[in-house]
Amino acid sequence: MNLSPHLSVRGGHLYVGEHDTVRLAAEFGTPLYVTDEERVRARYREYRDALTAHYDPVQVLYAAKANGNPALLRVLAGEGAGADVFSPGELELALRAGMDPSRLLFNGSSKSREDLRLAVERRIRVSLDSPDELDAIDQVAEALGQTALVAFRVNPALDVPTHPKIATGLASSKFGIPHAAIPDAYRAALRKEHVRPVGIHCHIGSQILALEPFVEAARVMVRIAGELVRLGVELEFIDLGGGLGIPYRHGVDRAPSPREYADAVMPVFVDGVRELGIRPALWVEPGRSIVADSTVLLTRVNSTKDADRRFVNVDAGFNQLIRPAMYGAYHEVVVANRADAPAESTCTVAGPICESGDLLAEDRALPAVREGDLLAILDAGAYGFAMSSQYNARPRAAELLVRGPDRALMRRAETIDDLVATHSMPPWL
Ligand SMILES: *Cc1c(COP(=O)(O)O)cnc(C)c1O
Repeated sequence: MNLSPHLSVRGGHLYVGEHDTVRLAAEFGTPLYVTDEERVRARYREYRDALTAHYDPVQVLYAAKANGNPALLRVLAGEGAGADVFSPGELELALRAGMDPSRLLFNGSSKSREDLRLAVERRIRVSLDSPDELDAIDQVAEALGQTALVAFRVNPALDVPTHPKIATGLASSKFGIPHAAIPDAYRAALRKEHVRPVGIHCHIGSQILALEPFVEAARVMVRIAGELVRLGVELEFIDLGGGLGIPYRHGVDRAPSPREYADAVMPVFVDGVRELGIRPALWVEPGRSIVADSTVLLTRVNSTKDADRRFVNVDAGFNQLIRPAMYGAYHEVVVANRADAPAESTCTVAGPICESGDLLAEDRALPAVREGDLLAILDAGAYGFAMSSQYNARPRAAELLVRGPDRALMRRAETIDDLVATHSMPPWL
């Protein structure tokens, strides 16, 4: 199996950077997420460098929902990243991690007035998702005596090849405003006293492995930018969203690199804005493609069972990594303590959750596996911990960050006490 550059096999053990996963699991326990900091930095820089080779100014906004751990946000803030934030919580985390407020975009298809107030107060640019939100933010800004800086999220009505649950640019999607209604939305914004439209935004979906949908989205956005320029909107940024996929099936999937993405999309963008005589900043919002392959999920084998299939029962389930159960997603599996042993049988890796859908990997050729072995689930850095839950009253896993010879927890494992910390007993019980 081909491995990402920060992963290697030494003496039969899987290493993350300089760290033997077998020793990390012994020291920190399982399930355990292990993230390589340099890999995250490298992926961010690939994006920044590939885009700035074509155009300046460029701002990469990391999609915080992929993994909002404050340590990762701080790493990326240090690289100059901003963030796409989708909730007041993500907004707060990004600010606390030291991100520049002018490099944040507050997104969301359903924001409360309280959410809008928080964003306007902090001078965060807001991507509006409906005409109702425009009215609301104008009133909120008026009450604060401020001017809200806004964009509208365009629904470009593109059918992209990905899982339906993460295709966000379909005409029928809950996200964005149809292209045809966009000019009216900006006209209305220009008439508002406490709102200034400064950008335009789209995001067409996630885990997209083809370049053409991104190119098409850029074409649509440039066309809309032209319509807005004619209305008198001064565009400070055009945000093309995120969504580039990663090759979860190693050696089978082929994902464009950030450079290939930039080489395909940027000519359309650069020629388009030049023809319009404008020079807005280009914003992009990658999440998955920055963090996914930086991280493995280590999980211990509790038992094996030969039934209709051969099951390998491990201590992480969809409470820790929901992508296989939720999207039918594929993650490569490595037996971390015998990583160079030949495959011996076909196994299904099952978690401890009381649901028959709690399978992390189905029908995989693995070396002989027995109780106590350690499995590594690869490419678990995006929508892994971030989507974890306490279902079945299972505490969430720890997250460990490694850099060179250093390693430190960026989140400890939850305990049973954490599970009960927010409970209260009604007085009549
Ligand atoms: C989820 C999301 C992203 C990031 O998507 P990835 O597939 O992780 O790159 C970017 N922008 C918005 C608005 C999103 O909702």
